[in-house]
Amino acid sequence: MSEDTINNVEEKERKSSTVCKRSREFIFSSARHVIRVNFCCPYIFGMPIDTAFYDLLGVHPEASEDEIKKAYRKKAREHHPDKNPDDPTAGEKFQEMAAAYEILSSVETREMYDRYGKEGVSGRGGGGGGPTMDPADLFSELFGGGMHFGFDFGGPGSRPRRSRGEDSVIPYDVSLEELYNGKSVKMNMEKEVVCNLCKGSGAKGAAKPKQCAKCEGRGWNMVQTQLSPGRIGTSRAMCTECGGQGEKLREKDRCKKCKGLKTVKEKTRQEIFIERGMADRQRIVLSGAGDEEPGVPPGDVVFVLKTRPHASFERSGNDLLTTVHITLSEALLGFSRILVTHLDGRGVHVTSPKGKIIKPGDSIVLRNEGMPVYKNPDQKGHLYVILEVDMPDEQWLKTVDVKALEALLPSKKAEMDPKPAVIDEVPFEESDIVDFGEDEADWEDEDDEHGEPECTTQ
Ligand SMILES: [Zn+2]
Ligand SMILES: [Zn+2]
Repeated sequence: MSEDTINNVEEKERKSSTVCKRSREFIFSSARHVIRVNFCCPYIFGMPIDTAFYDLLGVHPEASEDEIKKAYRKKAREHHPDKNPDDPTAGEKFQEMAAAYEILSSVETREMYDRYGKEGVSGRGGGGGGPTMDPADLFSELFGGGMHFGFDFGGPGSRPRRSRGEDSVIPYDVSLEELYNGKSVKMNMEKEVVCNLCKGSGAKGAAKPKQCAKCEGRGWNMVQTQLSPGRIGTSRAMCTECGGQGEKLREKDRCKKCKGLKTVKEKTRQEIFIERGMADRQRIVLSGAGDEEPGVPPGDVVFVLKTRPHASFERSGNDLLTTVHITLSEALLGFSRILVTHLDGRGVHVTSPKGKIIKPGDSIVLRNEGMPVYKNPDQKGHLYVILEVDMPDEQWLKTVDVKALEALLPSKKAEMDPKPAVIDEVPFEESDIVDFGEDEADWEDEDDEHGEPECTTQ
């Protein structure tokens, strides 16, 4: 058999490809053969080693953020347990999709997933210390409204090597008062620190780890992965035996203190400053205060502020909104009183202009009584006040001279002129407005603003 040498390789863009924009055709030609091979992005661009999450949402691994969001909205709506009461697996599917979306919607976790597959993002979402988001929260963020589910994704697993320790992201509930007045918070936390007995080697004395037998020291093994339905690819997966390290300590060689884990838990005391005017979801970063790992700088501890709803104030940027109830007498004759008790306990006194009648729902603005401006707290937003007029009750009516009142008030509506030809007498009955249109109540499917046809038959 004579040898055949490839003497030309031509790369072509596959114009007709429906699979992938970045799909390429390589033509290897030798004296006797021309071999055409089609490669898709996962092979040649080092794209995802695992596309299960993309498949779940029905998007290509190259989909844009917007495409992923759209696809999730559509899928989540289809698989929402409320819409599939007869499908016992609906809740599970819905959660899987939420988990996939959680990973793919963030640039950082998506990149980890693309590079390392599910292993790279395990521990995210399910008690791994990373940021977690409930699928119900995701859903309400996308659609509004609320519901609740348990959520568990991933699990313990080894993580790929990093240049820096993992950040600990901790949601922190704050009140509007705390954001208005500022506050310092001390808290006890537990973090991983490099074991001082073995100095982070995990080994007893001078014991050295042995090469991992499973991966022969590579840290990865070749596995078959489904790239997309019908496309099987061979790809690298982190070695589960040694956690991608390529080497392993024998049981008896492990450090007594950290049991070979290289780090131990340590209690620390952290202090964070909630500054005046900080925003909801603002991050307070304690640089380098996160878990330590041998050989890499520690990650950060990141507190993400979450504002608790307030009983009387609503915030938008630096402005505040509140509703104040005034009496009918105040509406007609004016007021001069403490209208609002502010977030710092101050009374805010307001005098209405003489001769001004306030209608129910009228609003006023109290300049510079809003939230302090972050980093410039002497400057403030505005406080908007909606004035609701409380009508007096029937008990009051019994105590007054109704004839005298009628004479004082503007006159009643005159009889219609000309009168309609037919007049029916209908009884006066009090109602609850929620009963209005009750028979028609049904789940309305609000569709995508952009209205892309999903599946059109031609
Ligand atoms: Zn140790
Ligand atoms: Zn191994």
